[in-house]
Amino acid sequence: MSSFSLNGRRAFVSGANTGIGQAIAVDLAQHGCHVIVVGRSSMADTLAAVRAVGGKADPLEADLGTVSGATAAFEAAVQRFGPIDTLINNAGIIRRADSLVFTEEDWDAVMDINLKVVFFLSQAFARARTVAGQAGSIINIASLLSFQGGIRVPSYTASKSGVAGLTKLLSNEWAARGITVNAVAPGYVVTNNTEALREDAARNQAILDRIPAGRWAEPSDIAGAVTFLASPAARYVTGITLPVDGGWLGR
Ligand code: NAP
Repeated sequence: MSSFSLNGRRAFVSGANTGIGQAIAVDLAQHGCHVIVVGRSSMADTLAAVRAVGGKADPLEADLGTVSGATAAFEAAVQRFGPIDTLINNAGIIRRADSLVFTEEDWDAVMDINLKVVFFLSQAFARARTVAGQAGSIINIASLLSFQGGIRVPSYTASKSGVAGLTKLLSNEWAARGITVNAVAPGYVVTNNTEALREDAARNQAILDRIPAGRWAEPSDIAGAVTFLASPAARYVTGITLPVDGGWLGR
């Protein structure tokens, strides 16, 4: 079997109804993975897209904005579908405002789902793999703002910089258990998350001018890196945050 095959594996993908999470679910399924697509919105589009490539997916409804909701969803997924080999922490939000007026609500909402839930879902996953004596992989969706400061998105930058740090810490603790922990840092991707940027013509052009690849990413541009990190081919890769950014960071 190819070391890039995910046959016989099962993944939990958070926030898989749209955008990058949906593309990841489809790509994993296309490589033979059984995908549990998790979120608060209908998964109908994702299930149809997975079916269209001949893959296998099951939906699980959950609010991933709280630790209790997210970890209950993880336990339910294991109960209903069986052991999870790969955890994809994709669900995330962004709030934009000047730091002078940024609210505590916008700080907490972003930090909760983008960082706190990422940690406690990872903990639930690693506990289950440890009890079973099994290896596994965690892939977190980071950001260019895991490396750069950004502007007017203080809680987002703090959360995504935290994700890069947490990825290294958990890798240090769990590599010897056979659990790899990595992150993928997408560049500018056409999704709901970036709608405000794309609607601002000047900002859109400034971003485009700085991307060596000369275009925004589509969600499917991000998915292949995630599939690689979930595959046996990446068994000795751990603790990294891999930019998938059309060359942005090299500029
Ligand atoms: P998106 O289309 O807005 O997707 C975000 C996903 O998270 C959606 O499925 C959303 O579900 C889910 N989500 C948010 N809050 C939730 C909650 N409380 N409970 C359950 N699900 C929740 O944006 P995206 O760009 O694909 O974002 C995916 C990840 O990529 C995020 O972590 C984001 O920070 C990261 N990222 C994106 C870009 C980019 O350029 N787009 C760049 C770097 C990193 P609903 O549809 O129900 O809200």
